[in-house]
Amino acid sequence: MGSPYDYLERCNTLAVLGGTFDPIHLGHLAVAEAVLNRFKPQRMLFMPTGDPPHKPSGATATGQQRYQMALAATCTFPAFDVSALEVNRIGQSFTFDTLKEIRSVCPTNAVIYLVIGADAFLNILTWKNAETLLTMCEFVTVPRPGYDTEKLTQHIHDLTQKYNASIHMLNAPLVDISSTEIRRRFASGESVKVFLPQAVQDYAVINGIYSPTPFPRLMSRAHFEWAKHKLKAYLSVKRFTHTMGTVKEAERLAKHYGEDVNRARWAALLHDCAKEYSAGKKRMLCQQWGVPLDEVLKAQIDLTYSLLGAESARRDFFVYDEAIHQAIRYHTTGHGHMTMLDKIIMLADYIEPYREAYFPLQQMRELAYTDINKALILGTKSTIAAEKTRNNPIHRWSKDALRELKKFVDDDKPNKDKSKEKQNKRKEDKGYGKHSKWKQRIRSGKGTS
Ligand code: ATP
Ligand code: MG
Repeated sequence: MGSPYDYLERCNTLAVLGGTFDPIHLGHLAVAEAVLNRFKPQRMLFMPTGDPPHKPSGATATGQQRYQMALAATCTFPAFDVSALEVNRIGQSFTFDTLKEIRSVCPTNAVIYLVIGADAFLNILTWKNAETLLTMCEFVTVPRPGYDTEKLTQHIHDLTQKYNASIHMLNAPLVDISSTEIRRRFASGESVKVFLPQAVQDYAVINGIYSPTPFPRLMSRAHFEWAKHKLKAYLSVKRFTHTMGTVKEAERLAKHYGEDVNRARWAALLHDCAKEYSAGKKRMLCQQWGVPLDEVLKAQIDLTYSLLGAESARRDFFVYDEAIHQAIRYHTTGHGHMTMLDKIIMLADYIEPYREAYFPLQQMRELAYTDINKALILGTKSTIAAEKTRNNPIHRWSKDALRELKKFVDDDKPNKDKSKEKQNKRKEDKGYGKHSKWKQRIRSGKGTS
């Protein structure tokens, strides 16, 4: 067989977990982990079925979709693989044929564990060539909630006696999760979050697999309306009003400055999506989502909401545009290399129409459509001043933003300083400036190569 599973050729111990995986869930992953811990196979192979012979109603997701979901669920586990062998097989698929095929690839004496849940194992004698199958590999049966363990033990005993089969019982905690229940929850709009990996949920949602109405095209108006309703359900009225004001202002600014209006609309909609999370939740999510925290962010955990907002845009709202993530991530502080979209979101947040008056709101609104950099300098300075009066440390991103924004502005400094600064800037660009690393290296005697 010309096999795409080269690794099987060198695999002396292998565990196979077959299933419809419609969809794959945490119960499957828990079983696989438990098998890995107890039997220590080199690889754990998930085998989504093709046309399932034991499911007269048929699967809801296509074979390809079930395969993709299995990949999404297992990609972070180094010992887990997913096989497309059965999914790609034409016609009905039987475990007996699959096992024969795997056996023909693995080394002759390879130990293969076929992992089967209690529900499926109790029916094993109805499977194709069951009697031969029972002698072709070792079996690992997994108790499931709702299945009589005594009956299972008796069944194992009978099969062992009659067919000389080698059957183990997995001693792992019962996990009360089934794909049937997950499909039911999807269909009725109930949450499935705790039953399956986020990546699998995302895949199912955006491909409209289990929900009665398909998910709208990504970044479409309908997707935007969906996100708006999702936000409205958990933001306070005040925050939601501010959000919609920011959307309006960002759209206007984007049109004015020739920036992508849809991007601006999305970034504005989600810019505060994580703001009202508690400090504890922010801390926990930073850890869970791998958001790195520097000293200032650690000291002021509430500041992380814009970083978490960027993550949540991707994970919870299916927005995959990096430019939008960046605009959300830096909308509070700014940063040293702001794009026009970053500037628009930051400014829209400052001056949106529902903002209560503060100094220098009026001036910023006057400048917004003539000089966006000047408007942002005013905003950033006022934020820094306000934070200083509260004795809060100033994040370096704000300082970087202010320094860089000033470079775009002609009259922010007295004239003589300005021309000198320009000269220095030009020199720096060539690597000759007062602060150039090249010059510092020469001074400190270090070579450049
Ligand atoms: P469905 O409800 O559609 O039958 P399922 O949750 O049983 O789905 P399958 O894809 O049929 O999932 O299961 C694949 C294999 O994993 C089967 O052998 C099944 O018995 C086992 N299995 C599934 N869920 C669990 C669980 N929670 N605990 C133990 N074994 C499980
Ligand atoms: Mg099942």
